[in-house]
Parts: sequence; structure tokens; C-alpha cells
Amino acid sequence: MPQSFWRLASRRPRRTCGYGRGVIVAASGDVHPCPVLTRPIGNIRTTALADLAAQLDRIYAETSVDHMAECAGCDLRLICGGGCRVRNRLERDDPWRPGCSEESRQALYRQLLAWGNRAAA
Ligand code: SF4
Repeated sequence: MPQSFWRLASRRPRRTCGYGRGVIVAASGDVHPCPVLTRPIGNIRTTALADLAAQLDRIYAETSVDHMAECAGCDLRLICGGGCRVRNRLERDDPWRPGCSEESRQALYRQLLAWGNRAAA
């Protein structure tokens, strides 16, 4: 579960690990929704930008943390986003099964408190 300052400070709800929000454009023009996965969703030279945007919105909605049963009751889900879907699949054979622990959740709570205290000072 990445916990960088920028992630905590973004203040935007995170429904994924970034999958479907970030855009990677390769030198070939291939467009990827994730820097880890290699299958492109189109090519910047041949696919209309509106089509690429619609695909990214669909991917983001379909992979949302809202669909992850283990995260449904977690207070941190819109900050955490459910962890990397690729890592979830590689480590647990299920992109919808997160790899967090009570210890990692407590660490994230402590980070949020420290960040809030610094912002209030
Ligand atoms: S249960 Fe774990 S992976 Fe899911 S949102 Fe909470 S901290 Fe993140």
C-alpha cells in the first residue's frame, strides 16, 4: 500500500491504485492505462481522444475499490484505493483481494494524523 505524501495530500477520492486514471503513451503512440500492464487500449495516432477518455473512465469505474468486498467497510478506502490491482493478482491471484494488514492500516492512520497535525500547525 503506497503511502506517499502526494497521495495523502491529493485530497481527491481514490477509487483505484491509479489504474484508469493515469495515462502512459509509449513512443509508438500506444496508450496504456497503467505503467505495469503492457496491453494498450488504443493508439494516440489512430484512436480518437474521446474514445480513449471513455475507455479510461470505464476501466476506472470497473476496477473501483467500491467493488472490493474486503475494502467495503474500511475508512481508508478512498485514500488507499485498494492497492495495486496487478500486485493483488500476482500475490493473491485475485485483483480484488488487497494485501493490507491491520499493521499497515494503523501506519496509514498515523501518517494521516501526522500530516493533519503538520497542516494545522
Ligand atoms: S481494506 Fe486495506 S486495501 Fe482495502 S481500502 Fe482498506 S486499507 Fe486499503
